[in-house]
Amino acid sequence: MLDPELELSVVVPMYDEEEVLPIFFDRMRPLLDGLGIQYEVLVVDDGSRDATASMLIAAAGDWPQLRLVRLLRNSGHQAALSAGFRRARGKYLVTIDADLQDPPEVIAEMMTAVKSADVDVVYGVRSDRSSDSFGKRTTARMYYRLMSRLVGKDIPFDGGDFRLVSRRVVDAVNGLPEDGRVFRLVIPWLGFPSTEVAYVRAERAAGHTKYNLTKMFRLAFDSVTAFSAAPLRLATWLGLLGGLLSAVFVVGALAIKLAGQSVPGWTSTVLAVSVIGAIQLLCLGLLGEYVARLFQSSQKRPQFLVGYDSLEDKGHQALDEESVRS
Ligand code: UDP
Ligand code: MG
Repeated sequence: MLDPELELSVVVPMYDEEEVLPIFFDRMRPLLDGLGIQYEVLVVDDGSRDATASMLIAAAGDWPQLRLVRLLRNSGHQAALSAGFRRARGKYLVTIDADLQDPPEVIAEMMTAVKSADVDVVYGVRSDRSSDSFGKRTTARMYYRLMSRLVGKDIPFDGGDFRLVSRRVVDAVNGLPEDGRVFRLVIPWLGFPSTEVAYVRAERAAGHTKYNLTKMFRLAFDSVTAFSAAPLRLATWLGLLGGLLSAVFVVGALAIKLAGQSVPGWTSTVLAVSVIGAIQLLCLGLLGEYVARLFQSSQKRPQFLVGYDSLEDKGHQALDEESVRS
């Protein structure tokens, strides 16, 4: 839903953010008004149980650019972003957290960058993570390293979900048939030309984190399963390893028995446990291979997106979503 008048949509997912809202309004509004462009602030209320929604409705009374989209229930940060991508009308779209950890002042830099560098994505990249605990920094580093390998592209390190994208990217993301997208992976995976803007991540302005441990695990799990069937194949490898080990056990157990040193019943128990264990793992692995294939074909991702075609060279507004599906 592109509104040609609107230059920028700022998408903000919010879940129980009543404490941060007054600061959010004070900081956001002068900044966006100062950009001198037509914009909308699209807040996606992710099923908040506190006063978030009513405060937003009240604030929209004297801030006409403020728009509220409410989800029926708490669907998670990434799902809220999906809703924002679908509903946003601007030519450019920025996603930013409500808690002001990502300084909104950087939005101006992102707008300048996207216009001067002819790119479609501007990633906000944390240049300094000292505001996070050691544990969070370490797990984050592991996450980004693993994800870069799985996606097969460089995932902007410490990218988070602060970035600006053009309408072509919005349309491409909305065209993806899958559910449970992880934006920080899917957007680099699409492969649009991009640049980065570094920023210092601040402390949460008010309230406390809305990402509990379950949600963090969900994100990590979605990230892996969206790009890799490797875990399904784990059983195959374990089965092969088990097969090798059981061969050693079998020979060993028989040798001990022949030497007459075994307790009655021991040999058959060892044989049964090791051989059957290996066979079971192997079968599970085979099953995993088929499930993996089904999973990959059910994702129905387009094989490629065409960015330029000399036949239709009218700038780059027309991105054909070539969906030769596998
Ligand atoms: N959020 C959301 N739904 C959720 C959890 C979080 O929309 O189920 C929003 C939250 O309001 C915030 C953003 O996602 O705007 C990032 O969450 P948070 O700042 O709590 O995460 P952290 O920075 O601690 O990782
Ligand atoms: Mg935060």
